[in-house]
Amino acid sequence: SRAMDHLKALIRDVPDFPTKGILFKDITTLLKDADAFGEVIDRMASRYVDDEIDLVAAIESRGFIFGAPLAYELGLGFVPVRKLGKLPAETIEQEYTLEYGSNHLEMHVDAVQPGQRVLIVDDLLATGGTAKATAQLVERLGGIVHGFAFMVELTFLNGRSRLEGYDVFTLIQY
Ligand code: IMP
Repeated sequence: SRAMDHLKALIRDVPDFPTKGILFKDITTLLKDADAFGEVIDRMASRYVDDEIDLVAAIESRGFIFGAPLAYELGLGFVPVRKLGKLPAETIEQEYTLEYGSNHLEMHVDAVQPGQRVLIVDDLLATGGTAKATAQLVERLGGIVHGFAFMVELTFLNGRSRLEGYDVFTLIQY
């Protein structure tokens, strides 16, 4: 929306990263602006302030940048969702497919208790594969996915359709 144009203007396009033909949205140029970073967290928090949520689960590694301050502002606990082999205690893992090949995400088995409501946070929604795998992890532990929050949505990749049936909030759309 036009209201978010001042935030959009702080996100940098990097052509051919990480591979040729990809136009990467670089959010580091927004993050270093204190007012913009603060506004993003405040806007996300105000979206959920009246909701019944138990935990924020954020996806390594850029998801942590948004998930931790959001959890703090909402007075909620924080759960890290990590790449394979990073978590020290007993984990469950979820495989998800990428354009070429596949990847795995992990959570600690005791990170979510049955019936807990979990808000899943990441920096950017592209195809939705990463977010969907995270929802599967939460649900396999008996948790309830309250919704998904992303700063940026690449609408042309239809990530929302992969997350059909869930509440999806994004601040900036391309
Ligand atoms: P998806 O699984 O296809 O939705 O990809 C989303 C994941 O890839 C998120 O964890 C993002 O951090 C990352 N990602 C994909 N494209 C970009 C981009 O253009 N900028 C920043 N992160 C991206």
